Amino acid sequence: MDPGHRSVCRVCGDRLEYGTVPGRATCYFCGESHETETICRQGHFVCDRCRRAPAEEIISSYCRTTTETDPIAIARTLMNTPQVKMHGPEHHFLVPAVLLAAYYNVTGTPDLKMKKIEQARSRAELIKDGFCGSHGDCGAAVGTGIFVSLATGATPLSREEWRLSNLVTAKSLEAIAMHGGPRCCKRNAFLAILAAVDFVREHFGIEIPVRKPVTCGFSALNEECLTRDCLFYE
Ligand SMILES: [Zn+2]
Ligand SMILES: [Zn+2]
Repeated sequence: MDPGHRSVCRVCGDRLEYGTVPGRATCYFCGESHETETICRQGHFVCDRCRRAPAEEIISSYCRTTTETDPIAIARTLMNTPQVKMHGPEHHFLVPAVLLAAYYNVTGTPDLKMKKIEQARSRAELIKDGFCGSHGDCGAAVGTGIFVSLATGATPLSREEWRLSNLVTAKSLEAIAMHGGPRCCKRNAFLAILAAVDFVREHFGIEIPVRKPVTCGFSALNEECLTRDCLFYE
């Protein structure tokens, strides 16, 4: 699939049909209704604004509108967009955004996620590119701390919320570290999300569903892919 190609659907990779279905359609990412003559054979439509939007914008739009409860599925849809590169700091926001979306969709309070996803975006902007190597703290792991901090309302002065926010970063960072380098933003995002899902089950008693097995599919785009040594390698 080449999601960057104009004639290929950015959601499913199927062919786009031109001019055969004029009328209004709902954008898959932002949920807005627009006039269009271009729709994929499976019925997906992506509006002009979402096609041109930077990575953080499309991550925010989709996480706010989706009703999906599997955070890996939400992450994979976003990773398939051309805006989300193989590696890049957009993953530092992608991790807390998909976790907040899944968490609030599972708990039946999706309106609570709107403001928190925007807060996650501004917090994640502070985690610079290459943070994993330069600071020994992978941005995907920091992303799980952002997620728990926002879900619990933690502040630097909280007691239990502070403990949980720091603990989830520790758990996900350990999972990431134990797999060794070189960095892979896909592997580390999947590991961080899975560690956060386990954490939410253990500490909040809430089951966020993840369809197994979790496989990557981005190996061909990654020159440093560990291939058979990566647990997500297909
Ligand atoms: Zn499609
Ligand atoms: Zn849109």
